[in-house]
Amino acid sequence: MILDISHDLKNPMSSIQGYAELLMKKKDMTGQECDEHLKIILNNSKRANRLLTELFELSQLDSPEFSLKLIETDICEYLRQICGELVPQFEREGFEYEFNIPEDSVFVMLDTDRFNRIIQNLATNAIRYNPAGTLVTVSLTVQNHQVLIDFSDDGIGIPDHLASNIFKPFVRVDDSRNSKTGGSGLGLSIAKKIAEAHGGDLTLLSDKNKGSTFRITIPAI
Ligand code: ADP
Repeated sequence: MILDISHDLKNPMSSIQGYAELLMKKKDMTGQECDEHLKIILNNSKRANRLLTELFELSQLDSPEFSLKLIETDICEYLRQICGELVPQFEREGFEYEFNIPEDSVFVMLDTDRFNRIIQNLATNAIRYNPAGTLVTVSLTVQNHQVLIDFSDDGIGIPDHLASNIFKPFVRVDDSRNSKTGGSGLGLSIAKKIAEAHGGDLTLLSDKNKGSTFRITIPAI
């Protein structure tokens, strides 16, 4: 893990240092060149900062002092609300969406802030790794006192050989690791830990031919 962290921090930090040095040395730079260099410095510091924030979050979730702020919540109503909040994001990026959430009331013990993070991570991934036009579906069902929330997309999918490791920190498909849009590889680890802290789980269902389906399980009360 330390190897992964140092590798992922080294690139943005070297870039920040390199461009800052250039800015100091080259006194005859045009305003436009200056702006371009500053933009690279800003983007790389955001990348390093995002990685550190997510690492902090992951270690918080592992700490013995960590506890959720659980409140009895109607998960159907709550999910309808957060899915509604995702709509502008999906529309802006040209994604199709469908929400299948029953009109019933189903109660669970929820830390809504933390739980929101799971949905946000899954939505960000669906948008980040799939082309515009992809259909994202969020469905809620109840089976044997368990609430099942399936977050699916009909996009590029996750290769079978990575499926069992995808929730481990720093596991990424292809070189999304190095691409500009690629994240830190911590999002799914964080999301799974939050689901587990609720007495539930986050899994990848592999019975689909196309795209990815992530299933959040959480006990109903
Ligand atoms: P990251 O911060 O890199 O997004 P995650 O842990 O959230 O890390 O995801 C791990 C990897 O799983 C991603 O880098 C991506 O390659 C792959 N992935 C996650 N969600 C999807 C998805 N909906 N469609 C395709 N690939 C995905």
